[in-house]
Amino acid sequence: MNQKSVLIIGGGIAGIQSSIDLANMGAKVYLVEKKPSIGGRMAQLDKTFPTNDCSMCILAPKMIECANHENISLLTYSEVTEIQGEGGNFKARIVKKARFVEEDKCVGCGECAEKCPTKVTDEFNAGLGERKAIYKYFPQAVPSTYVIDPENCRIFKGKKCGVCQKTCKANAVNYEQKDREIVLDVGAIIMATGFDLYDISALAEYGWGKIKNVLTAMQFERMICASGPTHGHLKRPSDGKEPKTLAFIQCVGSRDVRHKRYCSAVCCMHATKEAILAHEHYPELSSTIFFMDMRAVGKGFQDYIQRAKTDYSVEYIRARPGRITENEENQNPVICFEDTTTQELKSREFDMVILSQALMPSEGNVAVAEKIGVALDSFGFIFPSEDLLNPFATTRRGVFACGFCQSPMDVPDSVVRASGAASKVAEILASC
Ligand SMILES: Cc1cc2nc3c(=O)[nH]c(=O)nc-3n(C[C@H](O)[C@H](O)[C@H](O)COP(=O)(O)OP(=O)(O)OC[C@H]3O[C@@H](n4cnc5c(N)ncnc54)[C@H](O)[C@@H]3O)c2cc1C
Repeated sequence: MNQKSVLIIGGGIAGIQSSIDLANMGAKVYLVEKKPSIGGRMAQLDKTFPTNDCSMCILAPKMIECANHENISLLTYSEVTEIQGEGGNFKARIVKKARFVEEDKCVGCGECAEKCPTKVTDEFNAGLGERKAIYKYFPQAVPSTYVIDPENCRIFKGKKCGVCQKTCKANAVNYEQKDREIVLDVGAIIMATGFDLYDISALAEYGWGKIKNVLTAMQFERMICASGPTHGHLKRPSDGKEPKTLAFIQCVGSRDVRHKRYCSAVCCMHATKEAILAHEHYPELSSTIFFMDMRAVGKGFQDYIQRAKTDYSVEYIRARPGRITENEENQNPVICFEDTTTQELKSREFDMVILSQALMPSEGNVAVAEKIGVALDSFGFIFPSEDLLNPFATTRRGVFACGFCQSPMDVPDSVVRASGAASKVAEILASC
């Protein structure tokens, strides 16, 4: 019955939580995720502030619950192409992209990827390390089905290969598989399309992409994660050596009229977390955080920062660095800054620098909002409802939103919003 069905777009923690809540209330849920696995950005994180719980340990059971729930249909590697109708009675067209690997046959053994001769940069690991042209998005991916990336696979480039097909004992590799259109009748829609990382190569003064030992925070998350490309060891990209001094620079592209005017909301806390984690891995290592002002508004956040100072010797300097250069002898990044408490111009050398890049509404947010007819604010986040008592509504009746696609927010806030949006949808479904 279409009125009892819901389409949820985006399979990050927000979309996952809304799906589980609605499915538990008896609604039929279609969860559409454009990537080969659900999980969103939380799957890329090592630990989560302010408790330093293992991110995947919290997320994985929810991903599995989603996949096994009798009321949830997972449509991964899929995108919405068209929405027609109105609240209570939408018709959604979805394209499920060809994986070239049959979902019902692949057992996720990985032999195909072991034998595949083509290596490409690994997007999930934020560009650190490589994956094969046939790959699993990340080790705990749900579904655990492999996928062929046709842009890099030799077969799709007209070259001789077929190694993965020959290797696959389950006969799951199918080069002839085609994209499939699925049409769904649903009563309501929840957008949970999350965020993207702002391209900071535009901030040439920080040298990211040019100075090897300057990384982004997401690259750092992958590096310090045990399932990441260096198995949790911190290694300088220039020489593989373990860094002894780290600097974190805040607001790289955020709160900057030349780039993104708004605050990305989670960076003060994730930089503090990353400095703590680095110290836990290497007690001799020291970290310095360059910040404009500390935004620690959540429960327990201020104590977390205090603990970073007292228990993990994290140094905080109030300054917005102007430039990073490279010491050519040892490839150390050198940070030039004005210490705003002493008003002195200084420069300091570190083994590695980590940039807290601005976070922005995902490309998918903009594309989907256009298709659905939902208004966005001037930054591209979902336009807030005028009804202050219903912060999950959008400008289109029957369409709701939750998580980072509404505005920058952390995991706990995304989950709260997700459950809120689910309860509003349940209200509508109950009255249908
Ligand atoms: C470096 C870093 C560290 C962080 N550390 C922490 C931390 O320690 N603790 C914490 O609480 N928060 C942390 N955060 C914030 C956290 O990542 C977000 O709060 C959380 O991921 C938001 O979840 P979400 O589901 O709203 O969005 P996302 O995680 O972005 O998920 C959105 C999903 O929607 C999918 N999607 C997008 N467009 C479409 C489309 N058109 N069709 C289908 N699917 C689509 C995406 O592929 C993605 O899977 C950190 C963020 C960063 C960048």
